[in-house]
Amino acid sequence: MTELLTSPPAPPARPRAKRGEGQWALGYREPLNKNEQTKKDDNPLNVRARILHTYSRLGFDSIDPADLRGRFRWMGLYTQRAPGFDGGKTAVLSEEELDARFFMMRVRTDGTLLDAAAVRALGSVGVDFARDTADVTDRQNIQYHWIRIEDVPEIWERLEAAGLSTLEACGDSPRPFLGSPLAGVAADEIIDGTPALEEINRRYIGDPEYANLPRKFKTALTGHPSHDVSPETNDISFVGTVHPEHGPGFDLWVGGGLSTNPMLAQKLGVWIPLEEVADAWAGVAAVFRDYGYRRLRNRARLKYLVADWGVERFREVLETEYLQRRLVDCDSPVSPRAHRDHIGVHDQVDGLKYVGVAPVVGRISGETLLALADVIEEFGLAGARLTAYQKIVLLGADPARIEDLVARLDSIGLSARPSGWRQNTMACTGIEFCKLAIVDTKNRARDLVAELEQRRPDLDVPISINVNGCPNACARTQVADIGLKGQLVMHEGRQVEGFQVHLGGATGIDAGFGRKLRAHKVTSEGLGDYVDNVVTHYLAGRTGADEPFA
Ligand code: SF4
Repeated sequence: MTELLTSPPAPPARPRAKRGEGQWALGYREPLNKNEQTKKDDNPLNVRARILHTYSRLGFDSIDPADLRGRFRWMGLYTQRAPGFDGGKTAVLSEEELDARFFMMRVRTDGTLLDAAAVRALGSVGVDFARDTADVTDRQNIQYHWIRIEDVPEIWERLEAAGLSTLEACGDSPRPFLGSPLAGVAADEIIDGTPALEEINRRYIGDPEYANLPRKFKTALTGHPSHDVSPETNDISFVGTVHPEHGPGFDLWVGGGLSTNPMLAQKLGVWIPLEEVADAWAGVAAVFRDYGYRRLRNRARLKYLVADWGVERFREVLETEYLQRRLVDCDSPVSPRAHRDHIGVHDQVDGLKYVGVAPVVGRISGETLLALADVIEEFGLAGARLTAYQKIVLLGADPARIEDLVARLDSIGLSARPSGWRQNTMACTGIEFCKLAIVDTKNRARDLVAELEQRRPDLDVPISINVNGCPNACARTQVADIGLKGQLVMHEGRQVEGFQVHLGGATGIDAGFGRKLRAHKVTSEGLGDYVDNVVTHYLAGRTGADEPFA
């Protein structure tokens, strides 16, 4: 003991040299992993020409593996999971072994209004090339499956003729934008952000300067007070706000993202006028490109940089190095509590109506889209917008024909008066097509909705259920009342499909992540009983009908 007390003190630990994380701005230009190498070897945008002129002619086996599993994503193409492999195989088999030799294709809509011609083009692609598949995703994309490489040129031709594109719908690039489905028609809109989204798209999508980002870069923009684009969970969000002197504009939020290490976007507390949004977007994208972490893929999202720097430093770098001006300070808008999917029949500012409809967990079909195009024409509607909740909003309806319209939409599977369960349940792609999936999601969620509609038809409070096939949280696991993360769980001594439950997550004024309760692991088969029990518990404990579930 004495000896210990009298020993000379240990020399102070030498400060560890800070290891670079692959930030280009700090001189780390050499690729530090396979993904970075692939991007450096050839700009991913160049793969379009090879698809058009080589791969579509010579077939699947002619595709360079670096294109197939890397650069194709910049064209909205992912390889599709082969049918017949259970979730246990996801970790065991290689990507090649899981290949179906078909593609999943995403079409970006970027919050634009889809007229009848665009909806018809989307439907015809589903029917003619995708075995009648078409899903509405929570990023306002239409997603197809079973696409053959031979058909891609004709698909692009049809889509591009209708003003649509798959460019940078995936990959380490500016992914599809979320825009307010009510832009330009809502009576309570703060500002219509449509021109800004169009400007960003026109200037930067397909621009090689912004096509090699450290990781995906998700954009949301809304001028609606309901914050209907999930701004908390995007890398960059512009959210409508009113400056006391300058009037309507946008605050800038940065660094949101879910997956395995979820973070909510942080508000800069600034005011950006409509005409400067595109510049601000480019500035943030460039900060991400130059200072983002490229060494480790699981540290590469913008949220890690924002978390390390803090918003003050982030803003300072943005202003001094990229915008060359100070942004105007402004109190950030208060986040709402209300749901944001715009389901039902509502007034527009111009005396017409809009109608929000709910497919079941975003699953529609090419035929449904063709029928929807007919409805748009027949009722003289302005068109359709997709929502960030796997729903569709139809704009410009004549108030005198609303009931006929609602009935017609219902007849094609698009309900304007859905049950709360149908309205508030989302599901990601899952094991049917996604190679990363561990469990089935779409079919399980569809059956769950039907079961809960039977068991609890009159529940008077909305409860959101987000069903995800793996930890990647594409359907926003952590911000649902009941968030479900697919995994294998033990049941009667064997592994079966199931979910880890996250309870009580939310966006808006109560934004926060659901609690992950160790004991709350449920088999896929037992999901209906589990939700019913949770609801029973909530109803027994609440003090009034206005007490939210979360
Ligand atoms: Fe696939 Fe997982 Fe995303 Fe679902 S959450 S679509 S299973 S990666």
